[in-house]
Amino acid sequence: MTADAPAQRILIVGGGIAGLGLATGLAAKGLEVRVVEKTGYVSGSGVGYWAFGLRAFDMLGLCERVIDNAYVVKSAKLCAPDGTVVMEVSAPDLPNTSYPREIVIARPVLADVLLSAARGAGARVDIGVTVEALVDEGRSVSVRFTDGTEGRFDLVVASDGAFSMMRERFFDASIKPDIVEAGCWRALVPLSSPEAEPVVVDGGQYRMFLYPCGHNQMYAGIECSFGEPKRSPEEARARFVSLVEACPHPSVRYMCERVASGSMPVEFRPFNWHFIDKDWSKGRLVLIGDAAHSMSPHLSSGAGMAIEDAAVLADELTRRKPFGSTLQSFLDRRVPRARRACGDARKIFESPPSLESWSAESNIMTDAFKFLGQAP
Ligand SMILES: Cc1cc2nc3c(=O)[nH]c(=O)nc-3n(C[C@H](O)[C@H](O)[C@H](O)COP(=O)(O)OP(=O)(O)OC[C@H]3O[C@@H](n4cnc5c(N)ncnc54)[C@H](O)[C@@H]3O)c2cc1C
Repeated sequence: MTADAPAQRILIVGGGIAGLGLATGLAAKGLEVRVVEKTGYVSGSGVGYWAFGLRAFDMLGLCERVIDNAYVVKSAKLCAPDGTVVMEVSAPDLPNTSYPREIVIARPVLADVLLSAARGAGARVDIGVTVEALVDEGRSVSVRFTDGTEGRFDLVVASDGAFSMMRERFFDASIKPDIVEAGCWRALVPLSSPEAEPVVVDGGQYRMFLYPCGHNQMYAGIECSFGEPKRSPEEARARFVSLVEACPHPSVRYMCERVASGSMPVEFRPFNWHFIDKDWSKGRLVLIGDAAHSMSPHLSSGAGMAIEDAAVLADELTRRKPFGSTLQSFLDRRVPRARRACGDARKIFESPPSLESWSAESNIMTDAFKFLGQAP
């Protein structure tokens, strides 16, 4: 095989949203794909996608399966703590398409959908395995795994998240996400009623949300403008409730009761950002998803950017062009969009959460969507 032959054997390190999405898109087109996923643990509770994220799932043949397992959001009521509805907000439409404007899906459900799609398409997915040693030999990469197996690949894709071991070991160990003293408490609670609709309650220092997310569940969260120490599962549940138990809004009352009486995992995740401006690829290695760019959830775009990376890399690899131009086209298509999404998410984070800032926030979102709405 010549050094510039199209890549056929692909190793994907990290079986999250980007990794399994990519695996599905490549395996479905006949490429040989192996995914190694270190833990199989699904962090977080729910995740929202705007229409441009659904377009990326569509490019990978996954859109219908994702929507079938999600809640389609038409609009959300933005309320004051006393229950007064201040405004009704909805995500922008993606012109000339029929994708829903927004969906919310439980993360464990999405993980199952993606894992069965990747395996169904023919990818080998090994859970509980990672890379032990890796040598880029120019024409291929030889890899030894922690389960004792070995392999030779034409391309290694690192999709191992914001705190990527692959980036640290094989790219630049000095790149670290900027973690701030703010973040989001998250939990999955049972659906309050079949008619339940998305609600956001702005309590000044906190913003609480409760969204149906399919499978008779709701995605509950509290966005906080401060950090939190690590806590045991029981302490985390108590902390979640204590933050908002004084709020009289019925949705918040429901959320507190369910979290207090339930045994579901409750997690605090600090917000973080990083963006690698040019070197997402090095030899036969490439970074995608949060490994290349992480962002707070303010633009609902981290997972959207991750699945777009997967869709665009799958598109480029399955065109069977010379190896070098495949990676270059991928970077040309991805870097400016991800840079813009990271920057806009940070801008929204920096406008303090309050009812007054909501319109400034939606202006940034509307503007960002004009950009993100264009084909990736
Ligand atoms: C509070 C919060 C809420 C969010 N909400 C949204 C939202 O509503 N919408 C949105 O678009 N985005 C949201 N995001 C961002 C979104 O979660 C991420 O952008 C997205 O999960 C990135 O996907 P990924 O596949 O790149 O990485 P990940 O989802 O982090 O997956 C990485 C995978 O790699 C595995 N892994 C790690 N290390 C190794 C290793 N050494 N070897 C093998 N495998 C490894 C991990 O176990 C994991 O499965 C949110 C983020 C936060 C913090």
